[in-house]
Amino acid sequence: MNANVKFEIIADAFCRTTGMLAPGKDAWAGPSHEERRDAFAKWRDQNNTIINSMIHAVEHVYGEDRQDIRCPFCDEDDFDLVGLKHHLTQNYCAEYDKI
Ligand SMILES: [Zn+2]
Repeated sequence: MNANVKFEIIADAFCRTTGMLAPGKDAWAGPSHEERRDAFAKWRDQNNTIINSMIHAVEHVYGEDRQDIRCPFCDEDDFDLVGLKHHLTQNYCAEYDKI
């Protein structure tokens, strides 16, 4: 799992448990960047064991550095998770865009 995917998973868990966007995410309202940075650091320290277990579990389920994920809409393959996300959300999949 690359660093960007790992950060996205951790940032999503942080948001779900605290209601705050992780530092590095664009927050238009709510706590300042500094408040989120400090809360994120504290949250990571307090939950380090769970966070590491969660990352290892995701790698176990999906395979570490998996590069062969197939798009379920157009059947194109050879994506990693970030590549598939980009393919679907940046209008590169004509079949997905038809929905
Ligand atoms: Zn596709």
